[in-house]
Amino acid sequence: MISQETLSQIEAIVGSQYLKLEKVQISEFGSDGTKLHAMPEAVAIPGCAEEISSILMLATRKRFPVVVRGAGSGMSGGAIPIHGGLVLAMDRFNKILSIDKENMTATVEAGVITADLKDAAAREGLLYPPDPASIKISTIGGNLAECAGGLRAVKYGVTRDYVLGLRVVLPTGEVLNTGVQTMKGVAGYDLTRLIVGSEGTLAVIVSGTVRLVPLPEVIQTMLALFPGLPTAVSTVTEIMKKGIVPSVLELVDSLCISLVRDEVDLEIPEAAGAMLLIELDGNAESVKYYAGQVRQICAEQGCLDFATAGSPTEAESLWEARRNISPSLYKLRPHKVSEDVVVPRTRMVEMVRFLSELSREYGVPIPVFGHAGDGNLHVNIMLDKNDPREMRKVDRIVTRLFEKVLELGGTITGEHGVGITKRRYLHMEIPPAGLSLMSRIKKAFDPAGILNPDKILP
Ligand SMILES: Cc1cc2nc3c(=O)[nH]c(=O)nc-3n(C[C@H](O)[C@H](O)[C@H](O)COP(=O)(O)OP(=O)(O)OC[C@H]3O[C@@H](n4cnc5c(N)ncnc54)[C@H](O)[C@@H]3O)c2cc1C
Repeated sequence: MISQETLSQIEAIVGSQYLKLEKVQISEFGSDGTKLHAMPEAVAIPGCAEEISSILMLATRKRFPVVVRGAGSGMSGGAIPIHGGLVLAMDRFNKILSIDKENMTATVEAGVITADLKDAAAREGLLYPPDPASIKISTIGGNLAECAGGLRAVKYGVTRDYVLGLRVVLPTGEVLNTGVQTMKGVAGYDLTRLIVGSEGTLAVIVSGTVRLVPLPEVIQTMLALFPGLPTAVSTVTEIMKKGIVPSVLELVDSLCISLVRDEVDLEIPEAAGAMLLIELDGNAESVKYYAGQVRQICAEQGCLDFATAGSPTEAESLWEARRNISPSLYKLRPHKVSEDVVVPRTRMVEMVRFLSELSREYGVPIPVFGHAGDGNLHVNIMLDKNDPREMRKVDRIVTRLFEKVLELGGTITGEHGVGITKRRYLHMEIPPAGLSLMSRIKKAFDPAGILNPDKILP
């Protein structure tokens, strides 16, 4: 419990209008994309790094938990205040501090919405490539804390690949600049990369300097339908083997296709058992050349149908099939447990076959779609959370899924993070020596254990 005296001290730091205590006001800060919920005791909305520093020093002295929150779109419960305490909402850190066109970098505060940075960069003819599907709601701070990926990771990589330096506040109160503002830099341990992906457990990110790249001249969208997953996946392998690097390479399984078939403006043949959404970007001439190659590879691999968008409107209608999948899943069951495993590209068919067997064995639908180019599959275990029999199966299904993923040389999470939802499975992937080192790192950053306690580590 945070004492009344401590709440008064927090109020003195941020100002009374930036401390929320009313239940009705703070309840919404207790949940995230997982829809799990825990009630915070208070929500502070600091306006500068110094205020965050004073709050964290107070928390370290008085031992109350602090949970940093961006937009609350996280998919592993990272922003949920499981022990109550104080939520630190980053809403006021909403400025793009600079875009350096010549050096192709941007310095941006943590609470900026990712799409706003992308738009601002585009106005300068530049691209900020990480593009989680939540781009219109998530914050840069949340993206950095989760090392968010996205649809274009196959070509451009993930958030980590664009971060040069950070401004952070440590749980003990020190304000620190990590990394560099330049394209290279190897002075000392790489604290920047340690903090990126640490899910708000090591430091509060105040701002970051990120790398930008030139905006591609054109984007070409294509959609290919295949009789089944094996041909779709072998097409992915063939495309990559030829040295073609699409900016998007999305795979959709037959169950997902059947859910969106009637909703989209596309003729999807009954025989279609898998779909690939492919995008190429770059200069007009090379995109045209590689698009021809992609079409040829798809034909050689036995594709049933192939569509090329001739305009942005046509591209949008090809995307519609992919975008409609997530909401359509609820036609199967009222709830889902969503995992984001990654396997080597060549093992995707084996993975999806295994999931069909699992689905049959446990009697729950498990539709799959994902970023085929990087082997990242979104596995959706569809169920009714009000049915105790189905809920009893979930832990077993997830354990079997993760066992298979690891057997195939993969990882249990490609972009959503561990948070609270995967914490009890982390030991399956990380050996005791790794977990012990992570615990010691956490202790070095946060000796009192006040920053997002009991997240990630079992
Ligand atoms: C519809 C939908 C689609 C999504 N698609 C993708 C996708 O394609 N790829 C992907 O990777 N993820 C995706 N996500 C997950 C989510 O959007 C990302 O994890 C995103 O990075 C979270 O950002 P946020 O601002 O909402 O963070 P929050 O949910 O508020 O917080 C997430 C974690 O980051 C920490 N944190 C937040 N801000 C800071 C900060 N300033 N300093 C330190 N720690 C901080 C929190 O404590 C928490 O642990 C999706 C989510 C939804 C709902």
